[in-house]
Amino acid sequence: MTRTLIIGAGITGAALAFQLSRRGEAVTIVSTHAEGGLASAASFGWLNASFFLSHPHFHLRHEGLAAHRRLMDQLPGLPTTWPGCLWYEATGEAQAETAADLRELGYSVETLTRAQIAAKLPALGPVPETALFFAEEGVADPATLARALIAASGAQVVRATVQALTLDAGRATGVLTDIGPLSADRVILATGTGTPALLQPFGYSLPMLKRPGLMLTTNTLPPICPVVLATPDQEVRQDEKGHLHVPASAGHHGDHAESLGAFPVVINATIQRLRALFPGQEIHFAHQAMAMRPVPGDGLPVVGQGPVAGLWLAVMHSGATLAPVVAELLAAEITGGPESPLLAEFRPARFQ
Ligand SMILES: Cc1cc2nc3c(=O)[nH]c(=O)nc-3n(C[C@H](O)[C@H](O)[C@H](O)COP(=O)(O)OP(=O)(O)OC[C@H]3O[C@@H](n4cnc5c(N)ncnc54)[C@H](O)[C@@H]3O)c2cc1C
Repeated sequence: MTRTLIIGAGITGAALAFQLSRRGEAVTIVSTHAEGGLASAASFGWLNASFFLSHPHFHLRHEGLAAHRRLMDQLPGLPTTWPGCLWYEATGEAQAETAADLRELGYSVETLTRAQIAAKLPALGPVPETALFFAEEGVADPATLARALIAASGAQVVRATVQALTLDAGRATGVLTDIGPLSADRVILATGTGTPALLQPFGYSLPMLKRPGLMLTTNTLPPICPVVLATPDQEVRQDEKGHLHVPASAGHHGDHAESLGAFPVVINATIQRLRALFPGQEIHFAHQAMAMRPVPGDGLPVVGQGPVAGLWLAVMHSGATLAPVVAELLAAEITGGPESPLLAEFRPARFQ
């Protein structure tokens, strides 16, 4: 049995552990943070392909939604839901162009009138003239999903910090951690923002953007937001207990800000926007989670063979959407299957 060490217990490492164990591999996960990861524990969890940077990126994300549905078949009871997304981040001509582009790519897009929007979201205060509805989109809390996938994989989990990789004859054969060495037949880095430091000794410089993300949760409210809502200045979803989940930055997938600003100011401004969106609701701040988004330099995933034999990389933003499909494809490739054309644009070699 081939022994694989996966470094990282977020959604990426967890999805890989699940896919490799299904193929009969012995998997050990090593992670500084508990099962559920780092960025994964602060994520908005919107599963979508309506945000994309290139057509290959769209196709990977679209397949990502299908991979989530396959996971739900493989593991009945996962809390992933498919409420769809009501989107008017852009309005007017820009909105119509977005709709045309996505339809051309084969995405499900409905253009809703003001009356249809009001009927779908009666609690919405300012109702736009038109909005797009993306019926295929969903929600998964990546940390919860990661814990479920790790449990289902049967992988052993070691809480430790990897300090370096160990090599034998130019091949990765394990890691040195703060609690001692661990050996394996191959190593996968699913280490998010922790990845560049581990690759540096090999002369491989993985550029990462500085993209802090702040996620807020409110008090429980009556059901007011049955979809993922994406307005020009706020994204929001509501969980089954009634909490609203809100990124503090609008258009958070493509957010370019390198700093967040003073938390009390940012939190207050976000809550004010929510109150304007849902007038008459007693909306209060309850909780915050902050993490750096693991965004490679060109914004796209980095997936595949690393700079030495036996070392594989899986680093990405939008990992809530992408991790299940990346794990399916990478696990197949690692265990001797063909390289998927879906991953062709996202190979680590582009930074070498
Ligand atoms: C605020 C915010 C909102 C987001 N919203 C969305 C969204 O709506 N939709 C979407 O698709 N994506 C979203 N994302 C992105 C998505 O959450 C991430 O891409 C995804 O969670 C990355 O998962 P990961 O497992 O690769 O990394 P992480 O969850 O960051 O996990 C990395 C793991 O590696 C471990 N690690 C790192 N270095 C070491 C080391 N040296 N030794 C041992 N362990 C190590 C950490 O302990 C951790 O367990 C959002 C992210 C943020 C922060």
